[in-house]
Amino acid sequence: MSDRANAPASERNTPERNGPERNAPERKSSERSSPVELPPEIGERARRAERVVVFTGAGVSKESGLSTFRDEDGMWATYRPEDLATPEAFLRQPAYVWKWYGWRWEQVAQAEPNPAHGAIARLEEIFRSVLVVTQNVDGLHRRAGSRDVVELHGTLAAVHCHRCGSSRGMDGAWKESPEEPPRCGCGGLFRPSVVWFGEVLPQDALARAFREAERCDLLLSVGTAGQVFPAAGVIEVAHRAGASVIEINPESTGFSALASLALRQPAGLAMPALTEELARCRRRD
Ligand SMILES: [Zn+2]
Repeated sequence: MSDRANAPASERNTPERNGPERNAPERKSSERSSPVELPPEIGERARRAERVVVFTGAGVSKESGLSTFRDEDGMWATYRPEDLATPEAFLRQPAYVWKWYGWRWEQVAQAEPNPAHGAIARLEEIFRSVLVVTQNVDGLHRRAGSRDVVELHGTLAAVHCHRCGSSRGMDGAWKESPEEPPRCGCGGLFRPSVVWFGEVLPQDALARAFREAERCDLLLSVGTAGQVFPAAGVIEVAHRAGASVIEINPESTGFSALASLALRQPAGLAMPALTEELARCRRRD
């Protein structure tokens, strides 16, 4: 998830964030673990669907051991975003910010994609077009085999010069200079290519996400509370354009009302079961 997206929780608290169901989610019969049972209208939709958009957030990476941001035990409970995830913070304390991102890069480099990433990648075997629109910056969707991924909030895997924009890989930059950000030929500093607070999202990525959301048949919202805009708008756009929305998230979200099916489980449990069920409906004539 991005750093901008990783929004300070304070002004974004929602009832479900603090509500009693948080630690003891109520399980309805339609929300039980595998196998997933699709309501008939979703089954029929899935059988004919050609285009699928999967919108993902930090919940997908949690089971790979990567910290989320806005959970009670998330990054922003320990670190202040204004010290780390703004252009001003970087220019004020470049070495501090650099080392924090280097630490996160090392965590990501050691992490492995989990069953949720794998199940999302397998959707490409089932549907003609699958676009993953992620708020995560860890690169795990691609490592799991997803071929078409829009990274709305940038990536930890690259850095770019804060002055001229020239780009290089984080791995080499971090190994070469673990104490402070390396300098570009132009004299500027290399900074992580994540979207920080106060920065706009990459416009091409955002435009593509919305375009695909508008014409998809199925939208899966996985491991995201949908609290960060404009990214979360893709759910609304898809729903308004007539797509069926399936939500996978342990807690209900501001978008739950738009979902035709909600699986209240961790992504690593629910997503493999859902992919299997979608594949099963496609095989049925
Ligand atoms: Zn430069």
